[in-house]
Amino acid sequence: MTADSALPTETAPGDALEPTGAPDAAAVLASAVALDSERAVDAVATLLRGKRAAVLTGAGLSTDSGIPDYRGAGAPIRTPMTFQTFVADERSRKRYWAGSHLGWRVFRQAEPNLGHRSLVQLENAGAIAGIITQNVDGLHTRAGSRHVVELHGSLDRVICLTCGQAFGRDSIAARLETDNPVLRHPESIRIAPDGDADVGNIDDFVVPNCTVCGGMLKPNVVFFGELVPTETFLEASAVIQGADALVVAGSSLAVNSGIRLVEQARRRRLPIIVINRGVTKGDGRALHKLEAGTSETLAALTERLLG
Ligand SMILES: [Zn+2]
Repeated sequence: MTADSALPTETAPGDALEPTGAPDAAAVLASAVALDSERAVDAVATLLRGKRAAVLTGAGLSTDSGIPDYRGAGAPIRTPMTFQTFVADERSRKRYWAGSHLGWRVFRQAEPNLGHRSLVQLENAGAIAGIITQNVDGLHTRAGSRHVVELHGSLDRVICLTCGQAFGRDSIAARLETDNPVLRHPESIRIAPDGDADVGNIDDFVVPNCTVCGGMLKPNVVFFGELVPTETFLEASAVIQGADALVVAGSSLAVNSGIRLVEQARRRRLPIIVINRGVTKGDGRALHKLEAGTSETLAALTERLLG
């Protein structure tokens, strides 16, 4: 008898796919995962009861509001604008403003989702020490959260790099559309995979300058190659210092400032909970990792804590 004789040589290809009467393995797995995640949410709720948590949020929290997560799975490869390029190269700056304007229109129409609203409920109930967000969409504040530290700034403000004057984004957006009629027909503009907008002859594109000093304007967000302002980072640290736990929601913690805050929480021996679809740099420090969407998970947690 050879080893080969043990092989099912008479089985035709495809036979293994015939129904066998056994339960569908995928369905069994799905219900096991669902049960696991119910238990995980129960465990996290038990852990957080009576505590005040710091919450660190990232792009994953806003995907249910229709804002794409450029770091999430399946996202197009994107070369982010660096601060150095923005300041040094006029054509890059023009392309950035064109693309950023179209992105802003999407952001402006976005509404807070169940995840944002759950965090408002938790804050109102005294269960949250503060929210630190890497998002620049302003949705936490729009939802009604009060103590929010915007680690990377906010797209709804524009600042002058020369005199520091701040402007509301709406007024700058209106000037952009007046000076560049092409922007009034966004459906005719092609967006390149790197996020730049193809607005025809870029040399003709007019970017707004500061109305006070004529200086260069920039959306008040932290670009790649820029550091989070010290004051903002200290504010975020203070939220961690005043908390009994840290919940990370919808962030892969790829950015340095995020992982530094998680490290501060670890050093203070705070329990760390990570809610994110996909691997994060904080997984090794987390007491609980919930591999799930933030909207439904935060809603389920809120129901258990406040219900
Ligand atoms: Zn100025």
